[in-house]
Amino acid sequence: MNIAIVGTGYVGLVTGTCLADFGNHVICVDIDEKKVEMMREGHVPIYEPGLEEVFLRNIKANRIEFTTNIKDALDVCDVVFLALPTPPGEDGSADLSYVIGVANQIGELMTSYKVIVNKSTVPVGTADKVHEVIASKTTIKFDVVSNPEFLREGYAVQDFMKPSRVVVGTSSQKALDMMNRIYKPLTEAGIPVIAMDEKSSELTKYAANSFLATKITFMNEVANFCELVGADVDKVRLGMGSDDRIGNRFLFPGIGYGGSCFPKDVKALVKSGKQENYQFKVLEAVEEVNQTQKVILVPAIKEYLGGSLQGKKIAMWGLAFKENTDDIREASSLDMIEELTNQGASVIAYDSAAMPNVKRAIGDKIEYGDDMYEILNDADVLLVVTEWSEFRNPKYEVIAEKLKNKAIFDGRNLYDLEVLEEKGFFYKSIGRKTVL
Ligand code: NAD
Repeated sequence: MNIAIVGTGYVGLVTGTCLADFGNHVICVDIDEKKVEMMREGHVPIYEPGLEEVFLRNIKANRIEFTTNIKDALDVCDVVFLALPTPPGEDGSADLSYVIGVANQIGELMTSYKVIVNKSTVPVGTADKVHEVIASKTTIKFDVVSNPEFLREGYAVQDFMKPSRVVVGTSSQKALDMMNRIYKPLTEAGIPVIAMDEKSSELTKYAANSFLATKITFMNEVANFCELVGADVDKVRLGMGSDDRIGNRFLFPGIGYGGSCFPKDVKALVKSGKQENYQFKVLEAVEEVNQTQKVILVPAIKEYLGGSLQGKKIAMWGLAFKENTDDIREASSLDMIEELTNQGASVIAYDSAAMPNVKRAIGDKIEYGDDMYEILNDADVLLVVTEWSEFRNPKYEVIAEKLKNKAIFDGRNLYDLEVLEEKGFFYKSIGRKTVL
C-alpha cells in the first residue's frame, strides 16, 4: 500500500518507519526542512532507541522517502496518517490548528479517494471537524479514521510493533477494511484491532492517558503519606501490585509525571469536560498533586542545607522527563531548576541525551557537564531527577569524594536504603525512610 505520514516527530517517524517495514511504500512529509534533509541523508532526527536500524533498513530497500511537499505524497498515497502536534492551547484545550491546517491542504490538493487517519491525540469530535474541513474544499470521496497511538517514547518501535491493541474508530466499512489490511502483520501475530466509532476511539486515548496519570499520582500521594507515618512505599507497592485487579505497573512513586502526553492530555480532558459543563474532579486533583510533586524535593534540600538555598550548588543527574528519551517537555527537571534558581541556588546538570534540548529551552540558566561525576565537583548535594540506567549503580566513593556534603536527593528511588546507610550518606527518596 502507498502511505503518507504527515508530521515526522516521535509518532510520525516511528509509524512511517514501521509501516515501511511491514512492506508498504511510505512517504513522510514534514514542514521542517532541516529535519527532512537529515532524514534524506539517512539520519534519524530524534533520539529513539532501536529506530535507526529499522529506518536505515527501509531506506536501503527504497520503501521510505521524505519530502516537505504534501502534494508529492497525496498524488501517490491511498492512506494519509496525520501525526501532527496537538499542544495545549492557552486555555488548556488541545490546539487543533496543525491538524485543521493540514486538513485544509488535503481538501485542496487531493485528486482521488483517500483515507485520512488521525494518529494525533485529539478531542472527541475532531474526526467530524476534519471531515467538515476537507468536504468544504472538495467533492472527491474520502473517509476520516481515528487511530490513536499508545506508544511510549524510549520504547516506541517495540510498542508500535507489539502493541497490546490497535484502536480504530470509523463508521466506514471501506476505511476499516483498509486499516485492517495495514495492521494485518499485527493481527496475524495475535494483536487485536478494536474497531469502534470515531468519538469512542478519540476518547479512549484521553481516558487511557488520564487513567495512567491518575495511577502514578495516586501512588505519589500514598508515598507522601508513607513518609508521614513511617511506612515504606516499596513494600506497599509490592503488596498492592500483586493483586491483579490493580497490577504492578505505573505504581512507582517519584517526582511526578511529565512528558509531551500525560500533562497535556489530562489538561485537555478536563477542558473538554468543562465545555460540556462536566467537572472531572479526580483529574483536577491529579493535576494539582502532580504540580506539587514535581518540586517536592526542593524544601527537603533547603532544610538539609540549613534553611537557605542562596549560593548553594546543586548537581542534577538527568534532565529528560524519563529515561531513554531526549524529550524534556513538561519535565520535572525544569520545574525543579526554576524553583531552585528562584531561591538563589545554581544548578549544574548532566544528561546523556537531553542536554541539547534543555540548552535550547533555557540556555545558560544552568551549567552543563559532559561527565556525571565531574559535575559533582564543589556541588553541595546531588539531586537525581531521571531514572537513566547509568545512574542506577554509581561509584559511591567518587560521589562522596567530590560532593561538599555526602547527600543524595533521589526523585526516582534508584538506590537501596541499606547500601546508602552503610556508605554513610544522607539519602532522601520518595515514600521511604530518610537515611541520616
Ligand atoms: P512531534 O512534535 O515530535 O512531531 C510533530 C511533527 O509534525 C514535527 O516534526 C513538525 O515539524 C511536524 N509538523 C508540524 N506542522 C506540520 C505541517 N503542517 N505539515 C507537516 N508536518 C508538520 O510530536 P509527537 O510527539 O510525534 O506527537 C504527535 C501527536 O501524537 C500528538 O498529538 C501527541 O499527543 C500524540 N502522541 C504522542 C506520543 C509521544 O510519545 N510523543 C505518544 C502517543 C501519541
